[in-house]
Amino acid sequence: MDHTIGVLALQGDVREHLAVLTRLGERAIAVRRPAELASVDGLIIPGGESTTMIKLAKIFELYEPLRARIRDGLPTFGTCAGMILLADRIEGGAVGQETLGGLDITVRRNAFGRQVDSFEGDLPLTGLDEPVHAVFIRAPWVEAVGDGVEVLARVPADPARGAAAGRIVAVRQGSLMATSFHPEVGGDARVHELFVDLVRRARAERPTDHETKRD
Ligand code: GLN
Repeated sequence: MDHTIGVLALQGDVREHLAVLTRLGERAIAVRRPAELASVDGLIIPGGESTTMIKLAKIFELYEPLRARIRDGLPTFGTCAGMILLADRIEGGAVGQETLGGLDITVRRNAFGRQVDSFEGDLPLTGLDEPVHAVFIRAPWVEAVGDGVEVLARVPADPARGAAAGRIVAVRQGSLMATSFHPEVGGDARVHELFVDLVRRARAERPTDHETKRD
């Protein structure tokens, strides 16, 4: 294997993501320092608390390096709070809440409302033959996407879902991917596999160190 996948390990469900990656046979590391970030070929930003994660990213001097690597095309997968961190725009955020950005989407934070703030359901997802069992925990949804963004999944357009019916909950843009739900919960590794494919493809397109030296 010629790639390593990092899990941003400032806060949130880091261990669960590392466990799924390890189960897939991936080389996976926790990322807390700029040097660790520099060494990875793909990054997962886990669920947790987006305002806390941004604060910690600044304290750990990862905020600018994260923005720079994402801008330079690092394959990155944000789940739940991680989706908020990757979004270019937030609605319903804390006052002045910042993001890392990269994904041309508007997310609505804590979108599903108090009554249904945590729920589960089966969703068809582009790229998977069978629906994925999606677990939502105080999740955001995607209010709007830019032209370059592919919608991978929506909440079923069932009137029983109220305001959530038809909402976008998984997206991809180039080598960036995000889900409102928690694919690391429940033992189904297929969404992680889609991300690993993105990392593999991006890695294959990059010259190896050997080729770079030869040039
Ligand atoms: N509500 C959280 C936030 O705004 C996200 C919840 C989660 O990641 N499970 O950051």
